[in-house]
Amino acid sequence: MKCCFEEDIEIAELILKETARQNSVLRLIPSENYISDEVADALASSFGNKYSEGYVGKRYYQGTKNIDELESLVITRAKTLFNVPHVNVQPYSGSIANASVYFSLLDVGDSLMGMELSSGGHLTHGFPKITFSGKYFKSFSYPVGKDGFIDYDLVRDLAVQHRPKMIISGASSYPRSIDFSKFGEIADEVSAYHVADISHIAGLVATGLHQSPVEYADVVTTTTHKTLRGPRGAMIMVTKKGLDKDSDLANKIDKGVFPGMQGGPHDNTIAGIGVCLGEALKPEFSDYISQVVKNAARLAEELQKAGFDLITGGTDNHLILVDIRGKGLDGWLFAWALEYAGIIVNRNAIPYDPNPPFYPSGVRLGTPAVTSLGLKETDMVKIAGWMKEVADIAQSIAQNTGDTVQELTGGGNGLPANLDKNRRKEIRRAFSVDPRLGEISGAVAKFVSSFADTGSSVGKGASRRVD
Ligand code: PLP
Repeated sequence: MKCCFEEDIEIAELILKETARQNSVLRLIPSENYISDEVADALASSFGNKYSEGYVGKRYYQGTKNIDELESLVITRAKTLFNVPHVNVQPYSGSIANASVYFSLLDVGDSLMGMELSSGGHLTHGFPKITFSGKYFKSFSYPVGKDGFIDYDLVRDLAVQHRPKMIISGASSYPRSIDFSKFGEIADEVSAYHVADISHIAGLVATGLHQSPVEYADVVTTTTHKTLRGPRGAMIMVTKKGLDKDSDLANKIDKGVFPGMQGGPHDNTIAGIGVCLGEALKPEFSDYISQVVKNAARLAEELQKAGFDLITGGTDNHLILVDIRGKGLDGWLFAWALEYAGIIVNRNAIPYDPNPPFYPSGVRLGTPAVTSLGLKETDMVKIAGWMKEVADIAQSIAQNTGDTVQELTGGGNGLPANLDKNRRKEIRRAFSVDPRLGEISGAVAKFVSSFADTGSSVGKGASRRVD
């Protein structure tokens, strides 16, 4: 393995180490992916050297002829892919995109309503106190029902009760399809803006494997780096419905991004977004996304067979939320045990989680990255098998490490979340040296590197950049 530069050995070595790590573990974090070589080249291109505050034809800097052509082209691709009349491709990230929309359309102190964090919503959807969305706006949230599914009657009741000025649909850890048409109806009934955040499911929406919110929302936001498999960035789309409601909406959103929230756009990222949109417009991308969904469904099925409790009992999309308490663990313990076995997930709250966010009851996993590597349904059987082995090993280690054997199966004071920090440290140390976890890690590395080496990824995308 070489790196692109040798002048700064410290950084070059870290790049190589990270590339090697990504090529030797099962990356199951549902918001991550592998970008194509072409996206990576665009990110590293000369567009990164340029300043271009403003918009096409209205820049505050000279020398922006190519930038104007680039931004126009990327906008055209986004409009085509999502079938929308207006797109802003400048937001630096999903959080900034959401902030730009809120500050464009709301006054400080106005109310907004989004999905509750532990139900699967994002921090920017109105989480109180610690985020801009809860600090500067009066935020209300809708929980999912006890079964983990969105309860549209409850959403409507809460909307009628609070009459928010904006309703946000979309989520970060919701494993089921979202009925955007119902959100549209509810928003119309209470005269609220409907903003759909499709960051997670953008690839599914783009390929018709999830209902598109475009007909039912005024504004749609998305990140570009999750199922869309592009660089880390975001887009804001204004729909026909939105423009019919307010013909100045696109202008308000653009002003909200620049100068409202940002300075100069990251033109190299915009070039990368253009490349990923070009890839997403090809038929191979539909094949990729449909494999992502098939893999997630199979993984969910196999995990259930292996005795894991899944929130909502399965998945309709690319992600799965596991309630791990039934295995005598919490999300923190299981995520660490998995990492020592070469399987990377993130710990995550589950709906109505009794445990605190740092030690939640669940883990969240998904199939976008492993599908980019070329894994198919039969490989999901293998992954579920490894996960079961890891859970069994982790449970026995957790119960037998330390001076006293502590009951970890949940309920009352025995909840894993109540483990003290020292005990957690001890358990983690025991995970790190456990030969059985080490053996699984070796098998995983061999398995993953066989895909990374053959470059068998879908649509020639999904670069591992191993050179
Ligand atoms: N919206 C949703 C639904 C997300 O899941 C995320 C990221 O996880 C974001 C917004 C924020 O994106 P970023 O991390 O690019 O700021």
